[in-house]
Amino acid sequence: MEVCVIAKCTYKSETIMFSVSSESSMVDILKTLCLRFRGLQLGCFTLRYSVPSYPSCFLETDSDLDLMRTFLLISNEKTVDILVKDLCGISEYSGDFCVNKELIACEKGESSCSSTVEDRNEFLGRSKRASAKPLLSNEWETYIHHVGQKFDGGAEEFRLKLCKYALEVGFNFLYAGNDKKRVVAVCSNKKLEGCSWRVYASRCEATGSFVIRTLNNVHTCAGRIRESKSKMMRSRVVSSLIVDRIRAKPELKPVEIIHEFKDYYGIDISYYHAWFGKELAKLDVHGDESKSFNELVWYADAVKETNTGSLCTLDCEAGINRFRRFFVSFGGGIAGFQYCIPLFFIDATFLKSKYKGQLLCASGKNGNQGFYPLAFGVVDSETEENWTWFLQHLAFILLPMGRVVTFFSDRNQGLLNAMGFVFPGWPHSHCYYHLKQNLISKYPKSGYGKLLQDRVINLFSRCAYVVTEEEFKVAMEELVIVGSSKVKAFISDLSRDHYANAFFKGMHYGEMANSLAESFNNWVGVFRDLPVLPLIEGIRQKLMVLNS
Ligand SMILES: [Zn+2]
Repeated sequence: MEVCVIAKCTYKSETIMFSVSSESSMVDILKTLCLRFRGLQLGCFTLRYSVPSYPSCFLETDSDLDLMRTFLLISNEKTVDILVKDLCGISEYSGDFCVNKELIACEKGESSCSSTVEDRNEFLGRSKRASAKPLLSNEWETYIHHVGQKFDGGAEEFRLKLCKYALEVGFNFLYAGNDKKRVVAVCSNKKLEGCSWRVYASRCEATGSFVIRTLNNVHTCAGRIRESKSKMMRSRVVSSLIVDRIRAKPELKPVEIIHEFKDYYGIDISYYHAWFGKELAKLDVHGDESKSFNELVWYADAVKETNTGSLCTLDCEAGINRFRRFFVSFGGGIAGFQYCIPLFFIDATFLKSKYKGQLLCASGKNGNQGFYPLAFGVVDSETEENWTWFLQHLAFILLPMGRVVTFFSDRNQGLLNAMGFVFPGWPHSHCYYHLKQNLISKYPKSGYGKLLQDRVINLFSRCAYVVTEEEFKVAMEELVIVGSSKVKAFISDLSRDHYANAFFKGMHYGEMANSLAESFNNWVGVFRDLPVLPLIEGIRQKLMVLNS
């Protein structure tokens, strides 16, 4: 005697039962459903059934039907739940898709059904394959599947996976309970349509992991569609997906994140979610920015202990121990500087992390004319006091070497005053490039014409580069005549001892500009977004590569 299984088919709040035998066909079943369920139209619904471990199996063809029956018989199951999903209420997709309509048309020998494979793929979580390209999110639909499933990462991992699962399968959920010990989520259509999808997971006290305790993974609400925009795409989900990218590329922009999500996951995210997701990922990778300042305490000790010859100082406000400034120069760099050209390019670059501030740097040049960053300082701003503190530390390094070094800098007033105080009489050249840019800004092309601008710059260049006082005098007289009052005001503000070759009391070593300091700004650029400790540590690692 042939063994039948009983199918319990539910549509909205009604259920009918029928037997499935080896003689049953999908066409018969579809016709029966349309006859029995009011309002159900052929071509406007799909069928899914659930068996243990496989909560959402498609039932579309006779072959699906055979497999379902065989599987149930092998599993010794006598009944199966079949869910009817009505797709006609979904305006965006209410066109001529149909699985079952096509089936019946084919049975009747008609070939006019305009359904395509792509059309069918628009439904029930299959729209993710709108293009042939597989998406990284494809595996998310396997994230929630059975009672007893464990999440070693606790509530946080469970919540994240639940969001990703809902995104991929195409539904929204609401938390009915949500804390560290238990999470209960229900379908957001529960109130409106009485959908019974629900998951309950709680913490296993013995292991600390989260375990699914109950799961009804069948939706009785209207069609689910995997859309490119979803309420389930939250900043925490964004953060979990980009954390490795941020680790490798901290300067990743929110706009790039938006494009990557579209490309890799087929999902549209808002600028806010991209930005905030990045902030959360930075927090995961680099830690809390405020805590990063605390970590400088052990970092300074570790540098002194493990990197012999280093100079590292953490300066805090007396009494309250609040961070003021930090100086570091690594031992290997100090030892190597003795063999470098006696030049120092001094500059500051602003930091872009939450607490901003300035990164001060003194860079030298090695015998191969290569970049040689030596000392770094983190301060709140370029004040005379901060520059003095930084230069005093530099003096601790330089004075024992007994070498006179030529400094190059722009003309920051705080730095100029500090230089006079810490290194009085040491050769200090003002960057020719900065002076030239200042002068250019006084003769804009629109007001004075390019010819005059070029003439003024050429004459100023001669003043800076000529090597005798006589040549300087001639060039300067001509410059004052050509440039008139504006040049006079500009020149009166400069000290020729600090920019003109002819009067410079020291060696230029072929340098006239602070260009190396600008290179440093580019070199360190990637780290300027980071909290203070990863910033310093990033520089140290980069130095090791540079000097290796
Ligand atoms: Zn639902």
